[in-house]
Amino acid sequence: MKKSITVMGSTGSVGTSTVDLLKRSPELFDVEALTANKNVDLLAQQAIELNAKMAVVADKKAYNDLKNALSGKDIEVAAGEEALLEAAARPADQVMAAIVGFAGLAPTLTAIKRGATILLANKEALVCAGDLMVEEVRKNNATLLPVDSEHNAIFQVFDFDNKFGIDHITLTASGGPFRCFTKQEMETVTPQQALAHPNWDMGAKISIDSATMMNKGLELIEAAYLFGLPEDRIKVLIHPQSIIHSTVSYIDGSVLAQLGDPDMRTPIACALAWPERMKTPVKQLDLAEISKLTFETPDHDKFPALEIAREALRNHKTIVFNAANEIAVEAFLQKRMSFLGISELVEKAVCTFDEIDINSLETVKMVDAEVRNWSRAQIN
Ligand code: NDP
Repeated sequence: MKKSITVMGSTGSVGTSTVDLLKRSPELFDVEALTANKNVDLLAQQAIELNAKMAVVADKKAYNDLKNALSGKDIEVAAGEEALLEAAARPADQVMAAIVGFAGLAPTLTAIKRGATILLANKEALVCAGDLMVEEVRKNNATLLPVDSEHNAIFQVFDFDNKFGIDHITLTASGGPFRCFTKQEMETVTPQQALAHPNWDMGAKISIDSATMMNKGLELIEAAYLFGLPEDRIKVLIHPQSIIHSTVSYIDGSVLAQLGDPDMRTPIACALAWPERMKTPVKQLDLAEISKLTFETPDHDKFPALEIAREALRNHKTIVFNAANEIAVEAFLQKRMSFLGISELVEKAVCTFDEIDINSLETVKMVDAEVRNWSRAQIN
């Protein structure tokens, strides 16, 4: 049976991989809505190719361009934050949440509130408002399917019916472009160097997060909410080849892992087709060709992000961790702060702010804005 789908953030890295799969399997999906921030040309092209019912740009200044690009087509056009929420509220079976950062939270919550199946790439939403999101999923009988490759891997081998049999989970991490750099060498790295990820082709923000290992910190928090585990049962292992995407260790000593070529179209397809499977163009894994897989423990002195994330999770300050990081990444990309300054700022923010009880979207927005203002002032 055909499923209907809305793709939030269709012009980004996860978004375009999703669109690629939807284009290859038109017999499986009807596209309800597509959204972007301001990339009008790509959004219009995708909307036409996929015969979408609606196309939305978050940036109101881009409305006229989108309207012109889609003139004569039977595609509804809208712009602004309200329009994003409207797209999320439309009756699609599935919503791909692939907007980057905090901006993705409100549309994702809107889709959850109507009981949709959320394909969650936007990890920052869960990091900012994990308790609230999990509660809304339960209340509204929504479904949350992880798209992040590590969480999707765990999802595929996690025995939800026998959770008592699970000892711990392990998130693998490539180590990013600076795994072999000394701390001194990392002092002077440029945004261009940090954007060049060795294994994955991703958007700018997550590429910087991978280089600092803030991404693994965000993923640790994401895993805690998705799988209901405390941080001391979530381990992290450096695996530079990115072939084993994560593992689940059972109390009898068994370790189940999911493996695959590092191509986001595999976890995206897994979520799109769940509980079935769909074909993708991803190359089949050839272990003989790869021949060697290696592993290392993370170096917490060079990459303090993981320990900061654990501290934030234990003390209910994950929203602080996220907001300070988003501002620091933006400043680093604009060459207004150093690479090592990112972790320093996030650590200082987590130490400075008090424990926070998140019970509504309004509280989340207020705290997020407060931490952002504080972070900007620190950078200035
Ligand atoms: P990109 O930066 O490539 O794309 C982001 C998308 O969000 C674009 O469509 C962009 O539109 C849109 N967008 C940006 N800002 C806003 C805003 N304020 N309001 C509405 N839409 C906005 O990001 P990625 O695809 O790399 O990442 C998306 C999410 O998925 C992130 O949370 C990331 O952590 C997560 N993720 C990404 C992976 C990857 O391989 N890239 C892997 C696992 C998780 P426009 O193009 O117009 O700017």
